[in-house]
Amino acid sequence: MLRDNLTRVLETIERAARKSGRSAREVDLVAVSKTVGLERIREAAHSGQILFGENYIKEAADKIPQLPDTLTWHFIGHLQSNKARQAVELFDVIETVDRLKVAKALDTYAQALNKQLAVLIQVNIGREPQKSGVLPEETEVLCRRLADETNFRPIGLMAMPPFAPDPEESRPYFKELRRLAQRLARLNLFADNADVALSMGMSNDYPIAIEEGATLVRVGTALFGER
Ligand SMILES: *Cc1c(COP(=O)(O)O)cnc(C)c1O
Repeated sequence: MLRDNLTRVLETIERAARKSGRSAREVDLVAVSKTVGLERIREAAHSGQILFGENYIKEAADKIPQLPDTLTWHFIGHLQSNKARQAVELFDVIETVDRLKVAKALDTYAQALNKQLAVLIQVNIGREPQKSGVLPEETEVLCRRLADETNFRPIGLMAMPPFAPDPEESRPYFKELRRLAQRLARLNLFADNADVALSMGMSNDYPIAIEEGATLVRVGTALFGER
């Protein structure tokens, strides 16, 4: 069943990419495994999925060391500086850097542990008070301060639009994130300005995110079922 879900999601990615004149190879599926047990993650891995996303450091610290080290892990939750060391130990990519303090803490431990860590900047694209992320108009300044005060150049941007029952309502936010990334790329603020990662789209709206340029889609429910 999980294998069927995975096949369906990969086919949907393929279709959405083709519809927008892109190749599905430009889009990586992050299987969001928060609250999902080890057996089901192993099952997904056996079906060929190698990239996973987790939201909570404590849960990740319980699970990741018990899983094959061939898997790749993205942190997609809210990160506090006092968890930065564990985040560096556990994860390959931190998608949710939204302030300098966290970036500096990650940088310190990445240096100390000699770990190659990639980061994305989380943008609060809907300007929602309850959500994490830097405001769109403050993203350039954060990128510049990262360049000045850490060893990081972000590989891209991540965002979660306001929840809406109709996925089409996410489209303008995805467009805005892509435009912001294009503008920052022209200012040479990314690690690779010709290949900027855009992490956007979840179970209910990932086909639309792909049409709008997503290179990472974060899908949980459509793979593992309701949490
Ligand atoms: C939980 C979560 C997802 C996955 O959501 P689904 O609707 O289950 O696909 C994606 N991104 C973030 C940041 C999440 O917290």
